[in-house]
Amino acid sequence: MVLENIHLRDFRNYKEIALGFDPGVNLIVGDNAQGKTNLLESIAYLGSGRAFRTQKSCELVRLGADFADIEGSVFSQERHQTLRWVIFPASRPRQVYRNGVKKKTAGDISGVLQTVLFCPEDLMVLKSGASARRRLGDHALCQLRPNYEAALSEYGRILEQKNRILKDRHDNPALLDILPEYNARLCQVGALLISYRARFYEGLGREAEKYHSHFSGGAEDFRLEYKTVSTVTDPFAPVATLMEQLQEHLQSHYRAELESSQCLTGPHKDDFDVALSGMSLKAFGSQGQTRTAAISLKLAQRALMAKESGEIPVLLLDDVLSELDPGRQDFVLNQITEGQVFITCCEPGRFTKLGKTIEICKGKSI
Ligand code: ATP
Ligand code: MG
Repeated sequence: MVLENIHLRDFRNYKEIALGFDPGVNLIVGDNAQGKTNLLESIAYLGSGRAFRTQKSCELVRLGADFADIEGSVFSQERHQTLRWVIFPASRPRQVYRNGVKKKTAGDISGVLQTVLFCPEDLMVLKSGASARRRLGDHALCQLRPNYEAALSEYGRILEQKNRILKDRHDNPALLDILPEYNARLCQVGALLISYRARFYEGLGREAEKYHSHFSGGAEDFRLEYKTVSTVTDPFAPVATLMEQLQEHLQSHYRAELESSQCLTGPHKDDFDVALSGMSLKAFGSQGQTRTAAISLKLAQRALMAKESGEIPVLLLDDVLSELDPGRQDFVLNQITEGQVFITCCEPGRFTKLGKTIEICKGKSI
């Protein structure tokens, strides 16, 4: 899929701007606070109705304006299509149009323009805590598998209820009678999550390995390992087996859970680790290696989505060039030859051989 052009009116710091894009790489350059990330945000919003920097759509409307308007032409699903969002600052509901026809929800335009975003916070995800990695993996898997998303939110609900039981049982000991019921359901849904994750991380690791090898000029061998509950001997085992193994772990932690009043075991503690040439990245990786591996993971996520839908999602790389050495910068700028890519940067003098450069200054293209 290709975003051919975009027309923004009163979006963030843009009063009005119309831009045409290259089907390859679009390098968005400009000083700090000129509107580069805002432009990426408008592209992601156009396709999904979700803003990656805020939950509140009203913040997208330029201060003092009556409404924001984002309109773009996309070539996808073998035809030219248009998407348009009109967003209001107050409680008035936003409007969405596909090919000029008003639609009810963001779901009605799904699949026309898919984006994969990489932002500066993602750069160090392989060094940070497990929860950041789980969020990254879950987000990618939810985009690929709607059934996973449903199971994940059910798991979250049961977990919350179980934690409440563990806390409230001090005042109401009878609550312990219903705990086995919650544990059983938690293991059932948890086993399903592990089964999805095992397959997803295997595919993600395989794709990322190829990108990382290219990225590092063949110098580093990338391996991803999915880590789950210790009693699970094979995450690819049938769901019934996984369930039994989860139950086993839960039973061995029964006393500890009562003592701590918290649910201590289950796939909500899952993680994954990346090793480069046999050395754990978390423990030993340099900054550049960590960043490169994180970008490889995003490229891998995009490749998995492309396999699923037959369309390569648009890649949005926000501010990723700094702190990469020239070879790795060259990879980002000149060697991502598949699909459309938007790259923002504030360092002058960068250019791409694969597309065009757009210079942004104070919400205008110069
Ligand atoms: P950096 O290189 O620092 O990342 P950037 O070019 O990515 O900068 P943006 O994050 O796109 O900058 O933001 C540019 C400006 O947009 C900010 O100065 C911010 O104050 C302004 N801005 C954000 N939302 C609105 C809004 N609703 N109305 C007016 N201006 C806004
Ligand atoms: Mg920015």
